[in-house]
Order: sequence, then structure tokens, then C-alpha cells
Amino acid sequence: MQFEVVIGLEVHAQLNTKTKIFCSCPTSFGDEPNTNVCEVCLGLPGALPVLNKEVVKKSIALGTAINATINQKSIFNRKNYFYPDLPKGYQISQFEIPIVESGEIIIDFEDGSTKRIGVTRAHLEEDAGKNIHHGTVSHVDLNRAGTPLLEIVSDPDLRSSEEAVLYLKKLHAILRYLDISDANMQEGSFRCDANVSIRPKGDTKLYTRAEIKNLNSFKFIQKAIDYEVQRQSEAWEDGVYETEVVQETRLYDIDKNETRSMRSKEDSAEYRYFPDPDLLPVLVSDEMLTACRVIPELPDQKKERLVRDYGIKEYDARVITSSVEMAYFYETMLREGAGAKNSVTWLTVELQGRLSNGVTLLNASVDAIKLALIVKRIEDGTISGKAAKEVLDYLMEKRVSVDEAIETLGLKQVSDDGAILSIIDAIMQANADKVAEYRAGKEKLFGFFVGQTMKESKGAANPSRVNELLKSKLDQ
Ligand SMILES: [Zn+2]
Repeated sequence: MQFEVVIGLEVHAQLNTKTKIFCSCPTSFGDEPNTNVCEVCLGLPGALPVLNKEVVKKSIALGTAINATINQKSIFNRKNYFYPDLPKGYQISQFEIPIVESGEIIIDFEDGSTKRIGVTRAHLEEDAGKNIHHGTVSHVDLNRAGTPLLEIVSDPDLRSSEEAVLYLKKLHAILRYLDISDANMQEGSFRCDANVSIRPKGDTKLYTRAEIKNLNSFKFIQKAIDYEVQRQSEAWEDGVYETEVVQETRLYDIDKNETRSMRSKEDSAEYRYFPDPDLLPVLVSDEMLTACRVIPELPDQKKERLVRDYGIKEYDARVITSSVEMAYFYETMLREGAGAKNSVTWLTVELQGRLSNGVTLLNASVDAIKLALIVKRIEDGTISGKAAKEVLDYLMEKRVSVDEAIETLGLKQVSDDGAILSIIDAIMQANADKVAEYRAGKEKLFGFFVGQTMKESKGAANPSRVNELLKSKLDQ
């Protein structure tokens, strides 16, 4: 049987505010356990939450970026459940009326085609603490309790693990462009749960879905979804779909590359949501809405502008704008005067190809200004493209200037006409027969003269100047 895959994603993005969502404790990561806590985030009786205005502003920015409706009145609810990392016995979240509803994210395929993925909602909530297990003893760290999260829920529009990853990468880029979340997957500030089900092709019904948790890299998200689709398809074909695929939370095991049942999934009714009596409805004034809707240029807009203004290829523009770091790097190179097309190659192929072992665009010893200068030294004829690769290799290891590197490596091209002409004269004298043949019409001998001149200069002559000078000498 042919199956269609139905995936919906829930992303928890940690908003990059300095303080927590309902108190003034810092949100810093990696501090001593239970040092960034107060009576509010510890859930002590009588402590009252006060909403951090920044989280509202950042949510509106996201809503604007994904063409969503911003609810000027939204409500905080209590989501009731018990867990040791949740001292109040409830999590403050949004339920019926979230701050952001009905948006969209456009994903881009390799071949240049696009697809619209609906975003059901984005709502604000507080994060829980963390349980830390040491053998038979468990500890609770509440530093993270009360950290602001924006939960972004997609419509079940995704049809493959590839589409799921494209969606997540796009959302990740949007959050980073807006600078509303670090979206650091290792530190857990961009976490994803995937709801996965299958159905016979052509069927429009939604079947029971399994929710996969613990997905903290794009690679594992893809693998976990593929595993789950395989498991469900087999269950269907074996006639045990109803008993095998149940509403539950499944954990993805990285080492075994499999998902396994963690717990049965509660229906939302079981959380007994009700409006939090300690918090007033969130009201966004028209003035605030207008002010927060002013957002930076987004990946798609930047992509279109780069194609339009610099004539670079659509594909290259997509690669460059896929992350804010790369886009910023590229635009800095252009501002430094490097050519747009050469900059694409030197950034996306040459520099990217040399990044590994924790070296990234942000910490590489070659920054945008240096790489721009390497490109400019090719463009002004100081070094050849081949020599520039050596210069880049050298600069990845040593923190010296571009010109020092060229000097030290002895890679400066000879562009001085006198030096090149004396080589050309010598070669023409030694090959008088070939000169005569060339002048009699055997034009393909031109390549021979170029090759000889370059060889004689040990590759240091500027090839375009060699071409020009040879032409004028041979055509005399
Ligand atoms: Zn606190």
C-alpha cells in the first residue's frame, strides 16, 4: 500500500530576554544549580507573577515575520500537572487565546520550488526546571524554571522528514534574523517535538499520531521521523496499526536509532486548563503593535534583494541567507569592496570547506574583512585564484594580515609589463618557427606561448596580462 506521511511540528524557542517571563531572575545558562531563583519561580505561596513586556514584543515580531494574526488580547492559563521540576504544580501557558495565530512559513526545495506550511499558533509559556539524575539519587535545578518560551505549532502540512527539516531550518533562521532567540539546539533553546502519523494515499482523515520528543539536532529529527514512519507503515501492513500506533509520547534513542514508548499522551482536557487568576489578560495597544511590527529584513527578502541587486544565482542567494551569520559575513565582504560573485565562491565553497572541529564563521581566524581582501587581491591581479587558496590555508592557521601572508608565501604575481615582455621576447626568439606558423594562421599555437610564458615565470605572471601582451606581440 502507498502511504502518505502527515507531520506536525511543535517548536519550543527560548526567547532571549535578560530576565525570566514572570520575575526578574536572570535567564543565563550554565550557572550553579538553584542560584537564579526567587519566590516567584520557586512557586512559593503568595508570590505573584508579573509579565515581562519584552516577551510580548518578541512574540509580535515573530507573528509579523510569519504573516500571522496578532491577538491584541490574549490570556494566560494554568496547565495543571505534577512533576518534580514544576514546583507550582502547574505551568503558566496560553490555551484558547494565544498571542499569535494563523501564520505561515514558506519552505524552499533544492530545485527552487517552494511550499507553504501553515502555522497554527505561537503561544507564550514558562519553562520548567530540570531533573538531574545521579545513579539512584535525583536532583532538581530550578534555574530554568520561568524562562520564557514561545511554542510555535505548525499545521499538519509536512509530508516527509525532509520537509520537516526544511521547515525547522527556516524557522530557526527567522528567529535568528529577528534576534528574538539564540535558537541554540545544544543548549536547548530550540527544541522540537514531532507529531507523526500515516494514512493511505488519497485519504484525508487524520489517524492517531505519535509524538516524538528529545529531538535536538536536524539530523536526528530526520532520522527519528524516518524510523517512526517505517514503524507505523509496518504496523499497518501487519494489520496491527490500531494496537501498535496509539496516542503516546515516544522518545528517540540516538544510539539505537529508534523511537520507543515513554508514556501515554494526555488529552488537553486532562490538564484542566483555566485562566490564571494571578495574571490579567495581555492587552496590546495599537501603538505597541505598530512599533513591534517593525522588524529586520528576513531571509526571503534578503535573498530576493541579493539576486536583484548583485545578479548572483538564486541558489547561491538561498545558501547565503540560510543563516544570519553567513548573510552578515557576505554583506560585510560586499561593503569591503569584494565582487559579489567571487565572494559567493570564496565564502560558500573555499572558507566553508575549511571550517571544521568547532571552527565556525563566528570564530574563524579569517573574518569577513580578511576574506574580502583576499578576493580583492585576486580581482586586482596581485595573486592568482590558485595562489589565493594557499593564502587562505595559511591564514586559517596564522593570524597575520593578508598582504603579509602573500609576501611570506612569495605568491605575488608579476604584473610588471617589462618583466613579462622580456620573458615573451626570449620565448619568441627560441621558437621563431612557431611564431611564423602562428602568424601564418595556426592560431591554436597561442596556448603554447601562454603555457611557455607562465612556465618560465614559475606561475607568477599575471595570466590575463600575459594574454594581452602575447596577443599584441604575436599580432605585430
Ligand atoms: Zn525568579
